[in-house]
Amino acid sequence: MIIAGPCAIESREQIIRIAKKLKEIGVDYLRGGAFKPRTNPKDFQGLGDEGIKYLIEAKEITGLPIITELMTIEQVRKYGDKIDIIQIGSRNMYNYELLKELSKQTTPVLLKRGFSATYKEWINASKYITESGNCKVILCERGVRSFEPETRNMLDLQAVPYIKNHTDLKIVVDPSHAAGNTYMIKPMSLASMAAGADGLMIEVHDRKEEALCDKNQALSIEELKDIIDSIK
Ligand code: PEP
Ligand code: MN
Repeated sequence: MIIAGPCAIESREQIIRIAKKLKEIGVDYLRGGAFKPRTNPKDFQGLGDEGIKYLIEAKEITGLPIITELMTIEQVRKYGDKIDIIQIGSRNMYNYELLKELSKQTTPVLLKRGFSATYKEWINASKYITESGNCKVILCERGVRSFEPETRNMLDLQAVPYIKNHTDLKIVVDPSHAAGNTYMIKPMSLASMAAGADGLMIEVHDRKEEALCDKNQALSIEELKDIIDSIK
């Protein structure tokens, strides 16, 4: 399962243009953030409701199913059944009231690991969703905080066999937010698949220099295609 797309939906034109290119290279799901949980409040916060509208349009045009992050109970109620996978970000893994709301949904949830969450805390977070009714949870390893400032986070590949061994859940790896640098994404993608991951979530942008969010880790469409070919 290859999920790819820009960090953020930046305009109608941008998301539709990128979606078409991703469809051509065989991506399975289109990602794009409309509500962006930025560490700095002065950074681009996403297009919000307008962004979701463009993402849904990109789906209608290309046929690609969509995944996007929702951050509040209200957003889950409003958009939960309009998207194909609800992404819960690293910062919200501990937001139990939000997780309880997801248990009432039938849409699958991609639950990212909190950046300093233990495996057990992460699995417990997933149980807030699964044990009250929504069994469609996919976990996503996206790197944990470490002492190393040269990379954004540290990719914990041991999470893959651990989750496989201790749960029945699928696990996807997001090497983009772990590495934070484009040149690391391919080796980490291949390593993730070798470790047994069920898929990858990778950030791409076809005009990287214009990206409003996470440009240092964005791959070009060609670079993503090379990874997909190598995995095959
Ligand atoms: C994202 O995938 O857009 C994102 C914000 O990632 P994380 O929640 O892992 O920081
Ligand atoms: Mn990002």
